[in-house]
Amino acid sequence: MSDTTIFPQLEIPQTIAAGPGPGNTDPRVLQRFASAGVADHMQPDVLRGMVECKHMLRQVMGTGNIHTFGVAGTGWSGLDVMFSAVMPGDRVVMFVNGTFSGLDGLTVRMKAATAEELAANPMDPQPASVTIVTVPHGQSVSGEIVEAALAEHKPKWAAMAHWETGSGRVNDLRGFSDACERHGVMGLVDAVSSLGVEDFRIDDFPGVHGWASCPQKGICCLPLTYAPVSFTDRYIDVLKQTGCRSFVHHPILEARHWGIIDGKDAEKGTYHRTHSAYAVAAFHEALRIALQQSIAQRARDYAFHEAALRKAVTRMGCKVTSNMTSLVVLNLPDALAGREMELVQTCRATGFGIWPTLSEPVQVRIGILNLLTPAAITDIVTRFGAALTDMGAKIDMPAVLADLDQHYAPALAAE
Ligand SMILES: *Cc1c(COP(=O)(O)O)cnc(C)c1O
Repeated sequence: MSDTTIFPQLEIPQTIAAGPGPGNTDPRVLQRFASAGVADHMQPDVLRGMVECKHMLRQVMGTGNIHTFGVAGTGWSGLDVMFSAVMPGDRVVMFVNGTFSGLDGLTVRMKAATAEELAANPMDPQPASVTIVTVPHGQSVSGEIVEAALAEHKPKWAAMAHWETGSGRVNDLRGFSDACERHGVMGLVDAVSSLGVEDFRIDDFPGVHGWASCPQKGICCLPLTYAPVSFTDRYIDVLKQTGCRSFVHHPILEARHWGIIDGKDAEKGTYHRTHSAYAVAAFHEALRIALQQSIAQRARDYAFHEAALRKAVTRMGCKVTSNMTSLVVLNLPDALAGREMELVQTCRATGFGIWPTLSEPVQVRIGILNLLTPAAITDIVTRFGAALTDMGAKIDMPAVLADLDQHYAPALAAE
């Protein structure tokens, strides 16, 4: 008798990815992923595709930064590359207003800790050189908060999330960049949730020297592809002086395969690690889609559809506390307070993939990544209303849906 266990083929159902991310991957992206041939990572079309991705990514991010490329993996992979320039003992001020900036803070503390500080608390080091400025859940990091902290601590680096997906709050990027410039601090920004959703050009924020995003939110490219990153020449110069303790996640070395060599665009890349032709083809298509739709139009679409969803859930008696345009974070009507997890689990069990918050307080998060049609939003509103009704809420669904129709009528008439 053999003890080999072969499980049946894995079937994963189609669900509505109505959470903070991942978003619904565009079918065009999946099609390119599945139709790429097997080709190695030095095959000419793969290398050409990577160089084209780099050029398109610069347009999507709005930058002339030479060091703009994709990091294989997810948002944390790009963030790890961005934070790799933070060395033990570096003075850093990190602004935290939710789950993700909290984890960015952990990353920073791990990088900035001295060997002794890391050994003292390996999973959660508390280096003396890092200041964590905590802003309460549900509030934004303001320019004033950044200004005050940088004036007091005069760090080498400052970091924050642009959009804190944990609480759905937009932080003051302009204020952050201006304060960094005033104090000669190098800003690092987690733009995982905002890239491809909001209309902004990173070069308009000269206080920020490192940016990191992800494939699967605003870029709509989940099939494990590339986390966009971009670094200014100043960041690269600092890194050249200090070095960093990673081969694979080294901002200068990782850039080589994208045809960025010795600070210049090369005709083609040189080996850094094995890249997947499938991933390159998918990422390439996702960037083409973003540019075809235009970032400005996408940003308008997100704002328009988020307003519709916000109005509908507010009409149901929920209280929205977020201000991102890809995500609504809300408190349930008073009568259902405390039953957020039950609601989320019930919805998720039917393939309606909404989320709770991952850190206190417990709230409900409904996302609309790549769900930018009246039909998709109406479906979300209908499902959410039905779930609340099942839990005993008294909701005038015909009125909610009539409001929604009214929101969409002008747009539908114009089509
Ligand atoms: C989603 C998210 C991350 C983590 O991205 P992964 O793709 O899960 O690695 C980090 N920061 C922010 C602000 C996010 O929204």
